[in-house]
Amino acid sequence: MIEQLIAGYQRFKQGYFQENQALLQRLADEGQNPRVAIIACCDSRVDPSLMLDCSPGDLFIVRNVANLVPPCEASGAWHGTSAALQFAVCGLNVEHIVVLGHTQCGGIKSMFDDQEHDEMEFIRPWMLLAGRAKQTVLANPSIESVEDRVHQCGLESIKTSLGNLLTFPWISEKIRENKLQIHGWHYDIATAQLLSFDSVQGAFHAVDQKT
Ligand SMILES: [Zn+2]
Repeated sequence: MIEQLIAGYQRFKQGYFQENQALLQRLADEGQNPRVAIIACCDSRVDPSLMLDCSPGDLFIVRNVANLVPPCEASGAWHGTSAALQFAVCGLNVEHIVVLGHTQCGGIKSMFDDQEHDEMEFIRPWMLLAGRAKQTVLANPSIESVEDRVHQCGLESIKTSLGNLLTFPWISEKIRENKLQIHGWHYDIATAQLLSFDSVQGAFHAVDQKT
């Protein structure tokens, strides 16, 4: 597998890197200036740059298990996602933050399986961030199958993350000043359908569909 990666790197170096020399040289000389930050999942099937057809320099991407945004907390020391958000918002002045969820998320799925990941001491507490989303789903009697629960919980946890974004004072302030917008998106890895959360209607709609 590592040989495949190195062969891929060589193709990249001879191909993409040469063909996009002007862009890549400008990024190297002038630094990055992405306008969009994305919180995506670690899942290998969801590659934001690929699915949004973006180039290097376009997206500032934070990836974590289940694309969760923690609330703003003073306690604790290892706030990787919060640190990345702060740099995106206060350092790079991005104009948009997108929380990008997806179908079949293993992190979300683990919350509905009492056995799975029991021994994974870092995943359980991390997934507590989606605990409220899980409770919302379980309280809805019309959502019966595990697949539907996982799917709905993925959608609900995006809403939780959007709410948690607002707990960071430097995010809520920039939103008030119309310098920043936040978005909740959900990607279907089987069909490539992309949904966007409409906070006015409280529902997700396909981004390429007139509502
Ligand atoms: Zn995931």
